[in-house]
Amino acid sequence: MSKPLPAKCPVCRKPADADHAPFCSSLCRDRDLISWLDERYVLPGRPASEEGDSQGQH
Ligand SMILES: [Zn+2]
Repeated sequence: MSKPLPAKCPVCRKPADADHAPFCSSLCRDRDLISWLDERYVLPGRPASEEGDSQGQH
């Protein structure tokens, strides 16, 4: 038993890397963060329909 095995990467299910635990790499860490932010961004309560504000397109 060399060292405790970190959890598996929740993104790609590979063994997590100690430097990026619980992810296997910074890539997966970023990907998870992005998806997490994305879920928050589309929180219910704000319909995705365009209301014709003066914002227009991004
Ligand atoms: Zn991964």
